[in-house]
Amino acid sequence: MKKTVALIAHDRKKEEMLTFVLENKEQLSCCHLIATATTGKIIKEKAGLDVTTYLSGPLGGDQQIGARIACQEVNAVIFLRDPLTAQPHEPDITALLRICDVHNIPVATNAATAKLVLRCFTNDKD
Ligand code: PGA
Repeated sequence: MKKTVALIAHDRKKEEMLTFVLENKEQLSCCHLIATATTGKIIKEKAGLDVTTYLSGPLGGDQQIGARIACQEVNAVIFLRDPLTAQPHEPDITALLRICDVHNIPVATNAATAKLVLRCFTNDKD
């Protein structure tokens, strides 16, 4: 069964997300991808991958993805956070990380960890 992977990148991390997606396009094309609005739009347009998009993070997209995690519909989250800039939706970000921990869902907050998570998915046929 296809794994569902959520992709979220803060504004100053969007370029890094696109690079990550392009470098790992083959593995990601085997997954069902979901994303917040702008992140998803960039991945669709620049990497040509199919992505189900939700609202932008500051408008509730993190919470929408969090709800899917709570419903056991997401297998991993790749969340390239900007650790140097305060975000207006900080409580939503904390809630998203929390719900991943509540449901034991792998969450990568940098590209190095994201690569490891994806590599496991490629080897795991469940
Ligand atoms: P965006 O949302 O992909 O719509 O920019 C992500 C965020 O900034 O939380």
